Amino acid sequence: MQGAESLRRTSKRILVVEDNELNMKLLNDVLEAHGFEVLSTSRGKVAVDWAHQHRPDLILMDLQLPDLSGLDATRQLKADEATSAIPIIAVTAFAMAGDEKKALDHGCDAYVAKPIVLRDFLDLIDRFIGIPKHPTQG
Ligand code: MN
Repeated sequence: MQGAESLRRTSKRILVVEDNELNMKLLNDVLEAHGFEVLSTSRGKVAVDWAHQHRPDLILMDLQLPDLSGLDATRQLKADEATSAIPIIAVTAFAMAGDEKKALDHGCDAYVAKPIVLRDFLDLIDRFIGIPKHPTQG
């Protein structure tokens, strides 16, 4: 049910783990425009802590991070029953052949390749947790 309530405030929360500032801003802006509450960090270790503290509905996980890799962070989250049910979508660099398989092998539920195609990206999120708000197009 879409209503005034969902336009004002959503309970759907996405944790964005991304160390590239431009990508992070793009993802935050797009997700907030679609009604999500967004938490973001560039650090894998922080992501693991925040997944426990804030219980996001979904995690977007860049695989190349400065500290703990996105793959290791994913493996930790999926090995812990407190966080194993949170869907994790890996964000993989365009040129890194084989990253998609690695991401799935480490427990990611899906992946998107950079550069991100927004429509496909939003369709994927919609399949996992639904999209709270659809801004008017054009
Ligand atoms: Mn990165």
